[in-house]
Amino acid sequence: MNQNQSEALFARARQLIPGGVNSPVRAFRSVGGTPFFVKAARGAMLITADDRELIDFVCTWGPAIHGHNHPRIKAAIATALEHGTSFGTPNPYEVEMAELIVKFVPSIQKVRMCNSGTEATMSAIRLARGFTKRDKIIKFAGCYHGHSDSLLIKAGSGALTHGNPDSAGVPASFARETVVLPYNDRAALEAAFAANPNQIACVILEPYCGNVGFIMPDPGYLQYVREITAKHGTVLIFDEVMTGFRIAKGGVQEREKITPDLTCLGKIIGGGLPVGAFGGRADIMDLIAPLGPVYQAGTLSGNPLAMAAGIAGLRMLEELNPYARLDQLGRQLRDAVLAAGRAKGIPVQVPQCGSMFSIFFTATPVRDYDTALKGDAKLFGRFFHACLERGVYLAPSAYEAGFLSTAHDGAAIDRACQVFEEAVRGL
Ligand SMILES: *Cc1c(COP(=O)(O)O)cnc(C)c1O
Repeated sequence: MNQNQSEALFARARQLIPGGVNSPVRAFRSVGGTPFFVKAARGAMLITADDRELIDFVCTWGPAIHGHNHPRIKAAIATALEHGTSFGTPNPYEVEMAELIVKFVPSIQKVRMCNSGTEATMSAIRLARGFTKRDKIIKFAGCYHGHSDSLLIKAGSGALTHGNPDSAGVPASFARETVVLPYNDRAALEAAFAANPNQIACVILEPYCGNVGFIMPDPGYLQYVREITAKHGTVLIFDEVMTGFRIAKGGVQEREKITPDLTCLGKIIGGGLPVGAFGGRADIMDLIAPLGPVYQAGTLSGNPLAMAAGIAGLRMLEELNPYARLDQLGRQLRDAVLAAGRAKGIPVQVPQCGSMFSIFFTATPVRDYDTALKGDAKLFGRFFHACLERGVYLAPSAYEAGFLSTAHDGAAIDRACQVFEEAVRGL
């Protein structure tokens, strides 16, 4: 396919930006080839620097639940822009945003805005430590919570070993405060609490995992996590940066009827501009400065443009209630891939809920990090490029979720199903 403009831009970018990208997965390292540059996006489509139109199942990694460049979000930003881009004082949009979040997300009584999902999880963990006066945290292998030090740790060698840093530059002493466990494993969680009595400040998890591909919990697992954290006086943090307003208006916690103590949000609540938020029980949230001793701040937090974009997006979700329809479209995609795999004799798993899905080329059902890694990444790379050549863009990694938006109409989904079928047939 014609990539002349993208190749030229990437060559320039690589001179000045490490790896040519400002976020690593954009570099296509895990699928091979040169990333395409996008000069515009509209609805469900990306338009590349070489004027190719692609049906987009990445949706800017989740935020674009209304598709790209939605007229109402654009208009909301334009209106806010008339009045100024940042004030450094409280502004009316922040209040409206807080009211919407508290209204939609069942467990949130108070909320603080920040600028990214990374800030949200980092701040929520500091708050949990301040509240419990404990230092250790539990996270799960394969759950991604942004790139702050104590969260960039994935799999140690078993439930009770201390974490090893995933990234250079994370001090081993920080990593020791993070206990990493397998997701969906009750016995491992129970053992970790027994091995660290009165030391666990919080358990943080993606209630539905979206950053190792898409993985759902076993029935009753989230309820178990809620019960054991409550029993040990440990703060339960749901990282719903990806699932918030996507799985349901109130996120996974609404769908599963589980009440975490704190919740992290981002992505959709910014309507395509940079935003994060964390919120939850009022008694915990009131420990944040200026009311309490846990410090957290941000020059651009509650930025009026970002708030205006996010508010417009959330109001549209309220009006449209698109979740049943998104699930229908998601099922159609899933069924097409499963049927294509059967026809070709290639084992494939397609976990899917609502507008989130992923495609693992493995015979083993995927329920945690280890089973996700059984997916054939080489085969996925070939599938990815076969789809891209036919005008369908999936996330450029075997371990990322796919996303639908309300702008994906029947024609786009039909076309994608056809492309998936052809791509699998050609493997
Ligand atoms: C994207 C994501 C983050 C990080 O958000 P950024 O805005 O990229 O910092 C954290 N947690 C989850 C679950 C995410 O999907």
